[in-house]
Amino acid sequence: MGNDAAPLRQRDKGAGRDLSYPPLPEPLSVPVYDNHTHLEIGDGENPLSYTEQLDRASSVGVRGVIQVGGDRETSRWSADMALIEPRMLAAVAIHPNEAPVYAASGTLDDAIADISELAARPRVVAVGETGLDFFRTEEPGHATQYRSFEAHIEIAKQNNLALQIHDRNAHAEVIATLLRVGAPERTVFHCFSGDAEMARICAEHGWYMSFAGNVTFGNAHDLRAALAVAPRSLLLVETDAPFLTPMPYRGRPNAPYLLPNTLRMMANHLETDVSLLSAQITSNTELVYGRWDAEPVTAAHDADRSDAQPTGGLA
Ligand SMILES: [Zn+2]
Repeated sequence: MGNDAAPLRQRDKGAGRDLSYPPLPEPLSVPVYDNHTHLEIGDGENPLSYTEQLDRASSVGVRGVIQVGGDRETSRWSADMALIEPRMLAAVAIHPNEAPVYAASGTLDDAIADISELAARPRVVAVGETGLDFFRTEEPGHATQYRSFEAHIEIAKQNNLALQIHDRNAHAEVIATLLRVGAPERTVFHCFSGDAEMARICAEHGWYMSFAGNVTFGNAHDLRAALAVAPRSLLLVETDAPFLTPMPYRGRPNAPYLLPNTLRMMANHLETDVSLLSAQITSNTELVYGRWDAEPVTAAHDADRSDAQPTGGLA
């Protein structure tokens, strides 16, 4: 690997984290898709390139990913890569914690206009991640988050795309916003973080709940209670890689190939068969986003391009 394969972004190495990638899990016999990942963010001492990540994922039955952007640059990267990589579909948005940053420089409207343009591209299947984050953004930024979230909901509806919601410490406000402006037909709570009561509300409205590696954490009792009451027809699974690495590897770099760890824990908690759950979730995934081969890639994924610098020049 040369520098050409360097990821667009690098995750903070943190203090005392084990930076080695966990081992490959046993392959799934029924394939699934990773509903939410960030392949543009490298992690560890030697970050895997996006093709290495997807190759590893394929080898354990994770057939494809929704690659999610969170600002102008990563959203464009996601849309560009989905055009050349058959295992990737894209979601584009300005993340709720980025919206106040753009607003501060007077460029939020331009950034949202970019998202609107990218949303019309082939193989862009979702608007996200968007929503409200009252954990990392303080009060003065909340009004901006609402404005951005509502604009993203509108873009999803205009383009008949799924909506991927980032909701952190803002459950009631996110739900109220969806009900006030009208949720898109396919609405997904990415990294679902509610309890059983919230899962019932989502179920009532037909909103999907995408579970990430934190459902495996020891203290995640409320989350597992939510999983238990969520209708199987509304369940999705994701990694949110490189974050939220499932147990027993919490803190190490995460990647789509670790999705089977989360899925197996979910099946165990639901006392169901892993293959049955995989089949259900894959069916749900294709209902939300469509099939990965519904729209063709524009170029063969050959050796020359697989290690290409992921930013710029591909649009
Ligand atoms: Zn994410």
